[in-house]
This record gives sequence, C-alpha cells and structure tokens, in this order.
Amino acid sequence: MKREPLVFAGVCDWSGLVRGKAFPVADLASRLKKGVGLTHSNIMMSCFGPIFTTPFGTEGDLIIRPDPQAYVEVVFEDDITERFYLSDITNTDGTPWDFCPRTFLKRALDRLEGRFGLHLLASFEQEFVLSNVEQRPGATYALDAFRRQGAFGEKLLGAMRLAGFAPDSFLPEYGPGQYEATLHPEEGLRSADAAVVLREMARALAWRSGGRAIFAPMLTPDGIGNGTHIHMSLWRGDVPVTHDPAGFLGLGREASAFFAGILDHMSAVTAFTAPSVASYYRLTPNRWAPVHANIRSQDRGAALRVAPIFSTSEETPAAQFNVEFRVADASASPYLALGSLVWAGLEGLERGLSLQASPDESQILPRSLMDATAALQADAAASSWWSEDAMNSYIAFKNAEIAALENLDEEGICKRYSEVY
Ligand code: GLU
Ligand code: MG
Repeated sequence: MKREPLVFAGVCDWSGLVRGKAFPVADLASRLKKGVGLTHSNIMMSCFGPIFTTPFGTEGDLIIRPDPQAYVEVVFEDDITERFYLSDITNTDGTPWDFCPRTFLKRALDRLEGRFGLHLLASFEQEFVLSNVEQRPGATYALDAFRRQGAFGEKLLGAMRLAGFAPDSFLPEYGPGQYEATLHPEEGLRSADAAVVLREMARALAWRSGGRAIFAPMLTPDGIGNGTHIHMSLWRGDVPVTHDPAGFLGLGREASAFFAGILDHMSAVTAFTAPSVASYYRLTPNRWAPVHANIRSQDRGAALRVAPIFSTSEETPAAQFNVEFRVADASASPYLALGSLVWAGLEGLERGLSLQASPDESQILPRSLMDATAALQADAAASSWWSEDAMNSYIAFKNAEIAALENLDEEGICKRYSEVY
C-alpha cells in the first residue's frame, strides 16, 4: 500500500502541549498560504484534555498558519518520517490573533528591537526523566547512568541537528533516570521553537523505545524537580551588551534595567513560567530551585543566576556573558515563558530601573499557582502585555486547572501532570 505523506501543523499552546492537524504534503503550497482551520476555544484546552472554561463556547474560526521557518523533518529508525511545522494562530483575515502564544513572544521581541534596538539570544536547558532506564543508587551524574540511556542521547541530539538546531550537551542529572539536554543559543523566537522541538523529539524517541520522556516539574511531591532553565543575553546588532565588568554583578546598564524589570514583575511572570499546580512543589528549599525573587552571581539557588565567564573559552567574555532564569519548568509554553520575561524586561528598560544588591531576600516567589495568578491579575503593568480579554481568559484558564485538581492530594496531582508532560 502506498502511504500518503502527511505533515502536521502544530501550535505549542497555553497548556504547553503541541496540538494541531495534519494534511497531505502534496497540498503544502496551498496550506502554507491558507493554513488549517481552528476554533477559538481550542486555546483553552487544558493539559489534561478537557476545556474547563472558555469565553468562546462553540463559536468562531481561526487559522493555524505553519511558519516555513519552523519546519522539522526527521526520519526515525523505524522508517517513519515525522514532519511538522510550528505555527501561529491568526484570524481568518490573516491578522495575528492576540491569544496566540507565539505572537505574544513576537510582539515583545519586536518592541525590544523597535524601542531599544536590542535583540535577545536565548537557550533553554531542559531536564526530564526517562521512564525505562534502569536506576541504580549512586549513579547521580555518573558515566554509568549516561551509559544506561543507550543511544537515546545520541539520537536526540542527532534529531535536533537534523531539525536545524545546534546541540550543546546531554548529561545524566541528579535524579533517578533524570537527564538534561541543552542547545546553543538562538535568536529569541527560534530559541523557543527549539525548546518545543527538543521536548517533542525526546518524547518521540522515548515512545519508540517503549517508554516516556517525562518533563513534568515533579513526578512525586518529594522527588527531584525537572527544571527548564532559560539563559538570556541582550545584543545590539552583533555587539553583546549584557556585560560590563564595572556594573553591578558585571551587568551592563541595559541588561541591569532588563533584569531589574524581571525581578520587579517576577510574581506575575511566574504564572507563565511555572504554570502548573505541581510547579510549586519544585520551587521549595533545598532543591537547587529558587524560592526567592533574587539575582545572584553563580548561585544555582537564585531565580536569576548570573552565569560565569570562562577565561579558557574561545569566546570573548562579553559574548559568553548571560543570565539564567531558573523559575521555569516544562508545563510552560516556551513562548509564554520567554514572552513574559521579555515583557517584564521591557518594563525595566522603559522605567530605567537598575539592579541593586538585595541583601534581604524577603520577596518570596509565589507559593502556589493560585498565588501566581492572583499576582498576575494584580500587576497593573502586566495588563498591557496583551489584551484584557486574553489576560482574563488566561487567568480563568489557570484557575480552572487548579479547581479541576481540587480533590487530589499532592501525590495524585504529580501523577496527573506526569501523565501529560
Ligand atoms: N533540578 C533542578 C531544578 O529543578 C536544577 C538542577 C541544576 O542545577 O541543574 O531546577
Ligand atoms: Mg540541570
């Protein structure tokens, strides 16, 4: 039987999962123009599947528009070719739809370039657990744990290379069966695309070997957290502007303003970067995950960690210099996570903020998703990041997710998220 080659047009939506529709490759030219139909309520699809709340009901039509710059084609060893586009959601007249996560990020990046002449390079460092790797005590970061994932790491990095991204590292992490993969920095939008593709390739490969790559923030309430750390640097054209050896923590004036903005809006940002109920079991003491809204040099317990400069590197100190945001996990759509960081950074630039030493670390991160959505609602500046409708719907979307888990204990909640992420 002759197969009809298909290509999937997907959106990494508010739930952080990629959903969409496939069509024959033969129709590609026309589909790139006209896209694929979608209805408004789909953006309110919870990570568990059901739509718990929606202002749209059953009405309305939108278009999934595949981005030709975000195409992935990978042939797996079982001779199945996975072809997909990451996509934007537009109105039927082709104009951007305000609720589209990729548009949320693009608008922030455009503003950063338009108002300040700056662009952002970013890299997502992602941790996950492989379900079918034998776990041995003491194998933390061990060559033995590295070996026991078999060819998974090589296949994952190979798939990323085929998909057009530059792998940086693959390592056995601290937790049982936990691994981490990192990529080289990319331009803002593309860095978020890369994060989405890496999750999908990890899931595709684990599924082919009869297991799962689980990115959920916590598999059990007392387990080891899976973080998604986001490294960021600011550039003006080819010139890195994040570093100034004379600046506070080595940050240049504009970077200082940008990261001060992130600190100032940290609680609101958390509603996008740590957007599951289980996210907050990770953001607790002694997990190498942050609990305060703080910036510190080379401290893996901080919300913002100023990364080190390696004098042994071929790269100049200024080009290496970056700041790592550690309050994110993979229940977040990378577009909403990075988008909210850029919007918050823009607030800092627009208000001319600057970082200062914060000896008292009294500003605690939100303790729950409910705290985070309340902070987002209360943050007047955040209301300008997108339309009032989108903001209210997002808050309702997250609050409905909290309500849906009301009758479960922490163990049950971790289990539900581990099934879907
Ligand atoms: N697993 C930790 C987290 O939840 C991070 C460990 C590390 O520093 O890589 O973020
Ligand atoms: Mg790590």
